[in-house]
Amino acid sequence: MSKPRVAIFDFACCEGCQLQVVNLEEELLDVLSVVTPVEWREAMSEQSEEYDIAIIEGSITRPEDEERVKKIRERAKILIALGACATTGGVNKLKNNFGMDEVRTIVYGKDAAMPHLNTMPTKSVAEVVKVDYMVHGCPINNKEFTYIVRCLVMGKQPVIPNYPVCVECKMRGNVCRYEYGEICLGPVTRAGCNAPCPSAGFWCFGCRGYVDDPNVQAAREVMDKYGKTVEDLKSRLLLFGSKQEHTDE
Ligand code: SF4
Ligand code: SF4
Ligand code: SF4
Repeated sequence: MSKPRVAIFDFACCEGCQLQVVNLEEELLDVLSVVTPVEWREAMSEQSEEYDIAIIEGSITRPEDEERVKKIRERAKILIALGACATTGGVNKLKNNFGMDEVRTIVYGKDAAMPHLNTMPTKSVAEVVKVDYMVHGCPINNKEFTYIVRCLVMGKQPVIPNYPVCVECKMRGNVCRYEYGEICLGPVTRAGCNAPCPSAGFWCFGCRGYVDDPNVQAAREVMDKYGKTVEDLKSRLLLFGSKQEHTDE
């Protein structure tokens, strides 16, 4: 069986998730032994319009991005969204809390009206095209990335956790950040990272996005128990959970 051809594309992002892939070092060679990279701007100069698997890093933030990602989708048999910018819109969706004219002025000042600086409310990749698989996180967990690629090559369905970070956090024996008076998004955030943030003394800021069916009532009870409000929780949700709609209208 011929090896699947893989192309990696970047949109609006810091390219930190691709860096996580490069950081696989020796394990990257194992991954490359089962796929054929045909386009990857960060690592090679070749380009191709023929690929089986397209990996998209970054958010969709301009009308031309929408057209580009649609063309990629047409060519790819499988499309993977890589990292929070792609899976949820990530930190780029903070922009959606403002009007686009205001955003342009804040960023570009007197040049804000120049046509090449056009921008639109941020979208995740799945808000524009069908996404087959998501590698969550900001940045991604590179072990999860290799797991997903291996599954696809072997024709298996990767299993991505759909339970909250609290499960992994408790398994690591951490004292809950709420006991320190902090607000942690672990109860509503998708696990799979092995809770590195609470394990290192930080609250979870929700980079892997919400579980499919977050237990809002349980989260509310936690807030009540520790004397926090829903507004406190919402303020923490802004970083990785900003809204899809922009505020121009
Ligand atoms: S998800 Fe985070 S690390 Fe990955 S590209 Fe976006 S901002 Fe960078
Ligand atoms: S709320 Fe945060 S710190 Fe507490 S158990 Fe859940 S993930 Fe861990
Ligand atoms: S603990 Fe939360 S913020 Fe930290 S990596 Fe996991 S999902 Fe992201």
